[in-house]
Amino acid sequence: MFGKLLLLFTATLAAAQPVVVRTSTLIDGKGHVLKNKELIIDGGKIIRIADAKQKPTIDLTGLTVMPGWIDTHIHATWYFNKEGRYEAGGRGSKSTPQQAALYAAANLYATLMGGFTTVQSVGAELDGDLRDRIAADTLAGPRLLTSLRAVNENTGDPAAIRAYVQKMKADGADLVKIFATASIRDGGKMTMTAEQLNAACGEAKLQGLRSIVHAHSSDGARASVMAGCTAIEHGTFLDDATLELMAQHGVYFDPNFLVLHNYLDNKAKFLGIGNYTEEGFAAMEKGLPLVAEVLKRARKHQVKVVLGTDGVAGAHGRNAEEFIYRVQDGGDRAMDALTSGMSLAAESLGMGGQIGSIAEGMQADLVAVSGDPLANITAVRHVAFVMKGGKVYRYAR
Ligand SMILES: [Zn+2]
Repeated sequence: MFGKLLLLFTATLAAAQPVVVRTSTLIDGKGHVLKNKELIIDGGKIIRIADAKQKPTIDLTGLTVMPGWIDTHIHATWYFNKEGRYEAGGRGSKSTPQQAALYAAANLYATLMGGFTTVQSVGAELDGDLRDRIAADTLAGPRLLTSLRAVNENTGDPAAIRAYVQKMKADGADLVKIFATASIRDGGKMTMTAEQLNAACGEAKLQGLRSIVHAHSSDGARASVMAGCTAIEHGTFLDDATLELMAQHGVYFDPNFLVLHNYLDNKAKFLGIGNYTEEGFAAMEKGLPLVAEVLKRARKHQVKVVLGTDGVAGAHGRNAEEFIYRVQDGGDRAMDALTSGMSLAAESLGMGGQIGSIAEGMQADLVAVSGDPLANITAVRHVAFVMKGGKVYRYAR
């Protein structure tokens, strides 16, 4: 008995040995490049950063090391079924619920392997279980935050919306997702009233939840800002006055390239389902230059731009392509695009003190790529190492 206990104690001590990660180039997540540092990792956290001198446990010399990337907008449960058609599980799916759950788990595994250690899924009921399995480390995936469901114009009057948000909180949602406007495939016009938005974002705030708003048009976005919502997604048609208002109110902005490219690249897998019509695809094609233009104007107005992909079926595991589109098409400086997916994204999730930067006391979430993404942003495709909470999930040099 005593021997067993002693053995257990020794094993615990061995597991608790600090890990020394040596780096030659490190981007800290807040716009700085550090050279020749070692990170001391213990209990899943970075406990010390110093000039490299110890014998490393893990040697990442020659790679570019960054905080694990953060995607503030995915749909973890969307997948292509065995016939190569888009599904999101649930009613009308040809896949069984068990198959749908496995597709979702595979999406999250791919996302983690692609360098993303935290995602916000907006959102489906299954997300809550995926989040909990990942947090228990019985499933490999990024830290997951979820809205579980979404509020839209049909949720009801302001009182019904408040009750709906309270139920979301009670059921374990981490945030509230709101549709203030139609899809870009349906013109993107404002669909919720200001009163409905006030109820949704106001109640979210009362419940201690952030509110993430799908809004393409300026009127929908402005009403959301005035309602105290946290972030605007897409924003394809935002005018300068709305961007300025967002900057003044500290509202985060998440324009997305990958989602439109992904739809166009996988057109046959979506076409004919719901609003994925020829007209819808034409609207998305027209949207691409608008996203590039609104991102450039958002930077001019110093809006807090975060990285989200609106990652749907076909995009999971390729989330890092968003960095590339933002630099190559959206005119972002590479460092700005990276910071959007590191410290700024973390701040937008209310997790700036835990993730999104490499500093003492932060979670040991690291991604390392071969090449220098500041010189050539496509280096983000070459992920060689992924650590989350001090545990290594990928290491292939
Ligand atoms: Zn979305």
